[in-house]
Amino acid sequence: MECPVCEKGKLVRKKIEYKYKEWLFGKYDADVCDYCSEAFFTEKASYKIEQKAKELGVWGIEKKTKISHSGNSLIVRIPKAIATFIEIEEGEEVTIRPEGKKKFVVDAT
Ligand SMILES: [Zn+2]
Repeated sequence: MECPVCEKGKLVRKKIEYKYKEWLFGKYDADVCDYCSEAFFTEKASYKIEQKAKELGVWGIEKKTKISHSGNSLIVRIPKAIATFIEIEEGEEVTIRPEGKKKFVVDAT
């Protein structure tokens, strides 16, 4: 099968480590491109990864929040569960940067 990303390499079935931030989830079946190294986890592996994420308590902590404002700045409230999870506190300095048109990242590292 040809790689859908680079359209140059071939996909080879391998067991590779799935990592989410500092959590190692273990090794799962994936089709890995021998040219660009892009990895595509199989459907079965994705299911197992989801189960593992639930086990580790890192699944589905996504929350909705509203943007308000103060003077010329906008305020994004960070729900408690997420603040606890990414270990940030009031007064802490973080970096925010856009990641595409409709997305930004708060980096507390
Ligand atoms: Zn590729």
